[in-house]
Amino acid sequence: MWGKNGGEMIGIGIDIGGTNTKVVALNKKGKVLKEYRFKTLSDLGYPDFLKRISKLINSWKKVLPGDNFIIGMGIAGDINSAEGIIRFCPNLDKWRDIKMAADIRKKTKLRCFIENDANIAAFGVHTLELKKKYKNGIAITLGTGVGGGLIINGEIYNGSCGSAGELGHTNIYPGGSKCNCHMRGCLEAYVGSYGIIGRAKKEIKNIPAFIKKYGKLSSAKKLDTICLSNAAALGNSIALKIWRDTGTYLGIALSDMILILNPEYIVFMGGVSKASKYFLPSIKAVFAKQMIKAPFKKVKLLVSKNPDLGCYGAAVYALEKISDRRKATVNKANNKDRAGNSALAESIYMEYE
Ligand SMILES: [Zn+2]
Repeated sequence: MWGKNGGEMIGIGIDIGGTNTKVVALNKKGKVLKEYRFKTLSDLGYPDFLKRISKLINSWKKVLPGDNFIIGMGIAGDINSAEGIIRFCPNLDKWRDIKMAADIRKKTKLRCFIENDANIAAFGVHTLELKKKYKNGIAITLGTGVGGGLIINGEIYNGSCGSAGELGHTNIYPGGSKCNCHMRGCLEAYVGSYGIIGRAKKEIKNIPAFIKKYGKLSSAKKLDTICLSNAAALGNSIALKIWRDTGTYLGIALSDMILILNPEYIVFMGGVSKASKYFLPSIKAVFAKQMIKAPFKKVKLLVSKNPDLGCYGAAVYALEKISDRRKATVNKANNKDRAGNSALAESIYMEYE
């Protein structure tokens, strides 16, 4: 794909996390032209962040080859991707109802597409890692929070208002542990890192001794999921049980997803997925007990080792999105004469109130 003046189109991908923001510039072939990361510092407020990110993009525009750029952005939270609005981000608590795509366009004169970060990560896996080999998949990001992204028929599935794929907040235990979203019994409350650590703290009798023994392998000073992985690697029975239980909880939630969507793959991403070898067997054990066997035999369980799919995926997402828009404009023009029946039977159905 080429820019308006004949230069190659370049995608600028931005992954805004609660702590760090990663930015990358990719050409259509996926070659990395530039990369940068900085502290999000959300406490300084949205206008400050907008100023910093716009300044960076404008400086890149001057030094990158080509004359046409497009921006893709992934951010954790409830995103209205159709209108480029951040409705709510739990990690960036004061950022609410922000028209970020429009603000970025004002500051940089570039088109910007915004998506939920797990959707973008799912798209990154689909395009960059799996090379579009499969059409239907689920991505689940395991970190402090638990995100989900759905690829249906080769595209991100957004649902009716952009909120589809919130796997972390599906309920696995009515009235159960409290989630960071303030509901009780969400999957995240059990398999988000704070849920895992919370369970570990109840089971480990001498926490300082546990950290001293297993934390030193990764210089951990507090009980975290790396410390628990180290302990599992050395055969600690409590750590192994915590990971087994984590797999069981994931298995329960994912079984529902499999029965609803019948995906070809589920891919685990994020820091906690590094412990996958300790929790995957119990996910499979939950799957093995299912009575409808075929979708559970079909689904492949994958673990992504690429920690940068958020920003890479965002760049590719923007490049594909602009390409699709252009194709749609051409098709619309071609179909103009055939649109005579478009209002056919528009009042057959009544809305139920
Ligand atoms: Zn929740």
